[in-house]
Amino acid sequence: MQNRLKDRIALVTGASSGIGEATALELARQGARVAIAARRRDRLDALAKELAALGAEPLVLVADLADEADAQRIVHETERHYGRLDILVNNAGVMYLEPVAEADLVRWRHMLELNVLGLIAATQAALAGMRARRDGHIVNISSTAGRVANPNAAAYSATKFGVVAFSEALRREVYKDNVRVSVIEPGVVETELREHIGHAATKDALNAWADSMRQLQSQDIAEVIAFCVSRPSHVNINEVLVRPTDQE
Ligand code: NDP
Repeated sequence: MQNRLKDRIALVTGASSGIGEATALELARQGARVAIAARRRDRLDALAKELAALGAEPLVLVADLADEADAQRIVHETERHYGRLDILVNNAGVMYLEPVAEADLVRWRHMLELNVLGLIAATQAALAGMRARRDGHIVNISSTAGRVANPNAAAYSATKFGVVAFSEALRREVYKDNVRVSVIEPGVVETELREHIGHAATKDALNAWADSMRQLQSQDIAEVIAFCVSRPSHVNINEVLVRPTDQE
């Protein structure tokens, strides 16, 4: 168990909290060396100490992944530092929920740039090395909102449906190069994600709904991701939808 990911190099985006932080730790526990990216340096530095204690030789990458040049830079810095990148977990994301008629398009543009274009840019940067070595795994974090479109989540769902579509097309482009692509679709996970919703009524309703159930924890999703990337090279888990038992 502990050595399943020995000799694997991983980069986890959005690792300063929630699912990304738990994933970086879980990959490290299973033996990977792990680079971590996000904007909040203090949180990354604290996580790096925990990763170092697990022997993961962490690399801290402060980056704004809504900027595609930054998204590509973190991949290249990881490759330079460790010599290659085996596993890219495209997890960084925001969820700005509000009705279409009242939406702040500046915030929605930012969400599209981060959730979709940043993920695409990091993926593109990783492909050359993975294809040349005929070895690599890209894990994209979508959502149940990438399968079901709900009111007040129009643009967030557009980003997450987009991630599902991108992942499937990408998989079909690269499978012959032995590059795997998995898309993970979590239901409600107890993280900081909902804190950034600007529309008060939507935020209150979502928090009340989430509080009515036993929510998933970040570790639940981290274990799913670690399972996907620790399969033998002939196994590609294309898609995983994980809801809390209590979520309809
Ligand atoms: P968190 O808010 O805890 O984590 C989001 C992460 O993304 C943070 O590390 C944050 O770091 C990073 N991030 C945000 N903006 C940027 C940016 N511009 N550049 C770089 N990093 C950024 O939420 P979750 O852990 O819940 O979210 C992780 C992913 O899981 C997201 O893609 C989300 O859509 C998805 N998801 C979450 C669900 C949930 O219920 N929680 C359900 C389904 C999917 P920093 O602020 O330091 O930059």
